[in-house]
Order: sequence, then structure tokens, then C-alpha cells
Amino acid sequence: MSQPSSTQLAQAASIPSIDRLLQLPAISLLVQQHGHTLIAQQLRLLQARLRQQALGQQLRLVELEPDALQQRFQEQLKAELQPKLRPVINLTGTVLHTNLGRALLPEAAVEAVVTALTTPANLEFDIATGQRGDRDDLVEELLCELTGAEAATIVNNNAAAVLLMLSTLAQDREVIVSRGELVEIGGAFRIPDIMKRAGARLVEVGTTNRTHAFDYEDAINDQTSMLMKVHCSNYAVMGFTKEVSLAEMVQIGRKRGIPTTVDLGSGTLVDLAQWGLPSEPTVKQTMAAGADIVTFSGDKLLGGPQAGIIVGSKECIRLLKKNPLKRALRVGKLTLAALEPVLALYRSPEHLTEKLTTLALFTRPQSAMKAQAQVLQPWLQQALGADYEVTIEPMFSQIGSGAMPVDVLPSYGLVVHFIGNGRAGRAMMKVESWLRAQERPVIGRIQRDTLYLDLRCLRDAEVPLLQTQWSQVLA
Ligand SMILES: *Cc1c(COP(=O)(O)O)cnc(C)c1O
Repeated sequence: MSQPSSTQLAQAASIPSIDRLLQLPAISLLVQQHGHTLIAQQLRLLQARLRQQALGQQLRLVELEPDALQQRFQEQLKAELQPKLRPVINLTGTVLHTNLGRALLPEAAVEAVVTALTTPANLEFDIATGQRGDRDDLVEELLCELTGAEAATIVNNNAAAVLLMLSTLAQDREVIVSRGELVEIGGAFRIPDIMKRAGARLVEVGTTNRTHAFDYEDAINDQTSMLMKVHCSNYAVMGFTKEVSLAEMVQIGRKRGIPTTVDLGSGTLVDLAQWGLPSEPTVKQTMAAGADIVTFSGDKLLGGPQAGIIVGSKECIRLLKKNPLKRALRVGKLTLAALEPVLALYRSPEHLTEKLTTLALFTRPQSAMKAQAQVLQPWLQQALGADYEVTIEPMFSQIGSGAMPVDVLPSYGLVVHFIGNGRAGRAMMKVESWLRAQERPVIGRIQRDTLYLDLRCLRDAEVPLLQTQWSQVLA
């Protein structure tokens, strides 16, 4: 029989049977590795695709050659077995990127999670007494030490923390919030909506830019459950503005026997100004100003796992823990395993910039990113070719996750300009999707037809990986 020419079409009837395919050497090897069930299922999928192609007059005879079939099947299986959750390289310039998983955790947390995954542990067991324990006890003491609060409890995220707090202390009652603080975080979390879900009635006071002490005072009545302050995480009100300080709100509330609560959002445990970063009120300062409850995220500025941390007075936290919602919103052992060592790092603030990954990233010197840019520039230039110019430029990274919504961290990176003929916008999209399609996807940021690759979050160990990926040329 003569070899089929490269253009001859194949009929659906000539597609080999599953039994024939299973006999091909590369495929029988895959059966040994993965078992018959998965391989047979994937072969049926291959057959269906081949049949579809044949019916559409798109299948060439050469594609049914044993070598071609084996190679195609290996590629199909590789794609199919690739995990959906994949590591990427974050060159967006946003350190706490919500879509890329926010905080990266330190080594100490990694070890604790691995142990918790594979070994029984005293999650809800008091080793000293042999009695049943409370999972919050694992971190409560540390949280009290670090925040000055009397008590603490942990839930799934800060949105859950706010929900639990409102549902416990404000159900069927009124909550007074300044109009300047009715925030929306990341599209799905809006203070008025969460208030409704918690069964609380929102009472807005003041105006968008100015709220006065008398606004709160005048709104208090016998239906008031609390005064609530919400951190304007992802925006700033500037110009002709007036905000009532937390200390003033506490004073107003106490006169009428009403608690004051704070949704702090990011909630840092240390003053970031000591490293030249923008200053944010710490949880400790917020407690010291008299807040009865403070809620904040575990995976924003804190640098820990996703969690909602609630600290406050013994009485308030006791009520929150009694709410059946707490059981629904509680965290698993992996979260607690990761959170405890992260909190413990804050007991030695002198070592925090080396040990806490997020802080190490925030404080990375510009020279470190510049050195990486110098190594990588020729590789990317080579890969993209003469239609593009790759330059090394200073830029600003963002902290992210609603924490301080401005560019604040001086950084360095690669900038790709289109210098060929044609539309720059389309050319940039091509580069962006090429980078995204790589073995380890590279995520950058396009702004005004220019692609920015901020190297702040690039680990030195990842540089050779990029060199390998960028030794292929842009197709
Ligand atoms: C981020 C944020 C939230 C939501 O926190 P998650 O941990 O993402 O659920 C709520 N309130 C404020 C003010 C925030 O900044």
C-alpha cells in the first residue's frame, strides 16, 4: 500500500477502534501509568473528535498514522491532566492581587499546612485537660497579644466577619454608617447589601464628602444597635471633606450606651511607616481608640491565609460565637495551621521584612527588580522580534486588595512598545496572550497600547524559567 499523500482525506470508518488504539506502544505505556479507565475514556474522546473532523471533511489520512495518533493522544492527555489551579507569574505590579490569590505565605506557614494535612492534630481538643476544645483557641491568645483585644474569633473571610458581626449584634435593628463609607469591594461585597442579608437596617448619615459628629448624634434612637465605621479601602475622598474620627464616634456611642464597630478591611498589625510604606491605622490603634469590634482580612496586609478575623470585647465575641452562623462560616484546619505561624512572626517585628513574604515583596529594593530586568530584557526582545521594542523602565507597583489604592512602591520592569506597522492595540494583545499561553503563564498589564511587566513579584528562581520560555519566538 502506498503512503497517503498529505492532502488525502480520511473517512470516519477508517478511524481505528479503541482496541487497536490500546495496542499502540505509547498508549499501552499510558495504560500502565494511569490505568485502563482513564485511558479508555480519553480514547473515546479522541475518537469522537476524529469522527467530527472526518464528517466535516477536515481529517487527513496522515493524521490516522500510528505516530500521529500517539502524539496527538499524548498531547490531549497532558492537557486533560493539567490541574485547573495553576501557578502563574504575577508581573501585574499588584502584590496582593485578588484574582491571583492575594497574599503569598511564608515558609513557616507552608510547613504547618503540610503537617496539618497529613497528621492528626488538636484542632478542637485541649491536650492539657483531655477535654473538647474550641478551634479559635489556637490563635485567640496571639491575636489578643497583637491587637490589645480581650477576645477573638476567626471566620472564612472578612465579608463573613462583617456578616456575622451584623447578624449577631444588629438583626432587626439599625446600624448608623457615614455616606462616605458605603463601599463596594471587588464587585461582590457592598456594605448596604451585606447589611440587608444580615437583617440589619442601614441608616446613612452625612454626605458623600462630609459627615459630622451631630449627624451620628441625631440619628441615634432606641432602634440603634451600633455605630459602624468602614475603611474606604479602595478609594479616597479628597478635597472639601470631613470625617468623624473613631475616637469621637466611640465617645458619642458610649454616652448613649451603643457600641462602635469597625470594618478595617486590610487590618495591619504593625505600623508600615517604619519601612517607608504608607501609614494605615493598626488593629491595635483601632482597639485602643475604643472600638468594641474590629474585623479584618487574613490575606491582605496581614500576609496570611484567607480568613476573617474578628477581635473585640469578651462579651461581643461571646455573642458572635453563639450565633449558629458562626458554625457555617468557620474556617478549616488548613487556615488555622497557616494563620498561627504567620501571626507568630509579628512577635518579632525586627525580622518581619525577611520572614513575612508579603512585607518582603513590599519592601524589595528597586535595584533588585532592575537587575532582573537587565538579565531578562535581551531574552524578551529576542522573542518578540523587530516589531517590538523592549525597554527597562522604572515604574510603580501597587499594594493591592483595596489596601491603599494608589501607586506607591517604586519598582522596575520591562516595557513593551509596538514599533511595527499596523495597529498597536492588536499587536499588544498578541504579546499579552502569548505570555499567558506559556507553560508558566505570565500575567502583565496593558495600558494605552503598552505592555508593562513589573518585576516586583518575580522570584530570582523564576528568572531561568522565563529565559527558557522566552527562548521561543512570538508566533
Ligand atoms: C477587603 C474588604 C472586605 C472583604 O474582605 P474579604 O476578606 O475579601 O472577604 C470587606 N471590607 C473592607 C473594608 C475591605 O477592604
